[in-house]
Amino acid sequence: MKHEDAHQHVHHNHNDCIESALSTAEALCIQQGQRLTKVRRRALELIWESHRPLGAYQLLAKLAEEGFNSAPPTVYRALDFLLGAGLIHKVESMNAYLGCAHADKAHKGYFLICDECHNVMEFDYQDIHAALVEKAARQGFELRAETIELTGLCEKCKGKSVGASA
Ligand SMILES: [Zn+2]
Ligand SMILES: [Zn+2]
Ligand SMILES: [Zn+2]
Repeated sequence: MKHEDAHQHVHHNHNDCIESALSTAEALCIQQGQRLTKVRRRALELIWESHRPLGAYQLLAKLAEEGFNSAPPTVYRALDFLLGAGLIHKVESMNAYLGCAHADKAHKGYFLICDECHNVMEFDYQDIHAALVEKAARQGFELRAETIELTGLCEKCKGKSVGASA
């Protein structure tokens, strides 16, 4: 993932994010011989409504409003599919789901979570990942899951709080 992603929440056309997420999803599904069913597609779209992760129950409620079969198993199956395809990530500390803009590239989800606006950004993981693997290996430990979720203030909210205190 590239560096300019760090600025993705400041001034950007979010429709572009949604459009590119959906076209990546369609391409990936064709590649993998999977079907982007209506409920999967709509779930992905709803998760991508913002850069704030969406909880399963919020998603369920939105789908129900739109007349989808929103029984929890249906929604969880759709989430499992999207997770398995790499189209979304689960942000563990928020127990919620985030659309991934790099679904076509294998990567770990390392997250920066803004305490104010609750937007979540992914950040570059490669060097941190390598260091973790190495340090764990020194203790004879083989890493399986890595949950790296850092909280703080995003660029936009940091600017706001500086302005407010001045
Ligand atoms: Zn966006
Ligand atoms: Zn990602
Ligand atoms: Zn923020």
